[in-house]
Amino acid sequence: MLQIDKILTLRNVLTSWRRERQTIVFVPTMGNLHAGHLALVQHARKLGERVIVSIFVNPLQFGINEDYDAYPRTLELDVQKLASEGVDILFTPSVLELYPRARKDLTTVNVPIISDILCGAARPGHFSGVATVVTLLFNLVQPRIAIFGEKDYQQLLIIKRLVEDLFLPIAIVSHPTVREADGLAMSSRNNYLNPVERKLAPYLHQTLVKMRDNLLMGITNYTALEQEGRDALLAAGFNPDYCVIRSALDLSLPINNDRQLIILAAAYLGKTRLIDNIKVHS
Ligand code: AMP
Repeated sequence: MLQIDKILTLRNVLTSWRRERQTIVFVPTMGNLHAGHLALVQHARKLGERVIVSIFVNPLQFGINEDYDAYPRTLELDVQKLASEGVDILFTPSVLELYPRARKDLTTVNVPIISDILCGAARPGHFSGVATVVTLLFNLVQPRIAIFGEKDYQQLLIIKRLVEDLFLPIAIVSHPTVREADGLAMSSRNNYLNPVERKLAPYLHQTLVKMRDNLLMGITNYTALEQEGRDALLAAGFNPDYCVIRSALDLSLPINNDRQLIILAAAYLGKTRLIDNIKVHS
């Protein structure tokens, strides 16, 4: 595996691969890799000849009071994991390499409306930071295929929109959420949970499963179900940010004959913000 941190080096290697018409599959990450990330990488391996993973903790997508500095950085371990997955290139640019200009001078990318709801409402500027870095990385790597996890469902839809609106010739492939044995969605932020919080954390997934079961049983009062979900999370010791039923196509408010629904929640457990979602009809 080549570990590259300079744009120029990356471009030189990629040019020769492209000349040989090799399919490049790209998995962007912020590192601190767990089995969820590795599942994306394994899927990438099946889709093309060359797999590129990036690790970049993107300052643009963190709010001023968020965990940019504290975000777990475990490069040495990540390198070992990716090398044993047969990754071809690990791209690890510095902040200065990707953003040579001052923050206020940067060209940014914004996908309107869908970026301003749910996690976007709670984290202003977050999805513009995501859309900007993903666009930069797409332009540098120019993959044929890029893989994103369904764990970050709103992010996945925003990236699909970005690719569509900017006519980028990249297929966006999604991968189901990988969970711990007790149902908790794997996340680098699970590291922040203390033992008591960690025991409680799977209740977020359980709440979504219960809401899904109620929908599948034919309950159509979405507002009441959402309130029930919020109340259950509160009673269990979470501080819910949102717990909603939406259209899985664009996260708009569902209408009663909508066939593709998704339930999404974000909730604080202590200081840790957890997110999860579950499709109603898989
Ligand atoms: P991150 O490093 O958190 O930015 O995540 C990098 C990629 O991995 C994103 O596409 C995430 O959606 C995906 N991802 C993170 N956690 C999981 C998980 N538990 N299951 C599947 N994909 C995940």
